[in-house]
Amino acid sequence: MTKDFSHQSSETTTKLYVRTNTNRISLPANGKRTIVVAGLSNTERKLDNTQMQALEDAVNDLNSLNLEAVSLKFEKRTEKQHEESNNKNSTVLILRDARNINDFREGEFAIASFSKNGNPGSPITITPNNTELNTPEFFFKGIFLHELGHTFGIVHSDFDTRTSCGLNTTDGSRNRVIEHIPGTSTDTSDTNSIMAACATDIGVFSLTSQDKTAIRRIFQRAEF
Ligand SMILES: [Zn+2]
Repeated sequence: MTKDFSHQSSETTTKLYVRTNTNRISLPANGKRTIVVAGLSNTERKLDNTQMQALEDAVNDLNSLNLEAVSLKFEKRTEKQHEESNNKNSTVLILRDARNINDFREGEFAIASFSKNGNPGSPITITPNNTELNTPEFFFKGIFLHELGHTFGIVHSDFDTRTSCGLNTTDGSRNRVIEHIPGTSTDTSDTNSIMAACATDIGVFSLTSQDKTAIRRIFQRAEF
């Protein structure tokens, strides 16, 4: 697919949420930090087979970017394995949300935690009704790529408006300390990104070229 650069100024923003340096994922001076992306595989809060495959595919997409200082590792984990693991600080656990379906807003598919204290955010919880619907794998992959973006510290690309949700209200990111990721544009209502607030609602299910630039940049050792 060819990108039309004549409209670049109004496309593709991605912003990185960083309150302080400790909100960014810490990178090693040499080599790659391993971040485990673990789908829960037992109990009633486990991912179903479609979701688990989508999560693995999302991790593969991210690793295919050849990130300089991070390598992602997909795992299936039982609760016990997670409890006993010694790499929790470098793990994003993905599991089904414990709340009742009536407690979710319409169109709310998942909730992520932002990166904190130099570590990726965890967990990502996924709305329970998705497991009962006949939702295709590519849809879940889009959801996971978006939520993983949050766990890496990235805020919504359209945070000032949430245009992708049909809204014209900020999501509050304006009140946070955020830094522009070099190599991406600066439009804060941009929807050409997996990080658009309602990306899957507008048909964005995979990483755009600007998303790739952004993710490569935040996992590169050079500071910004
Ligand atoms: Zn989001």
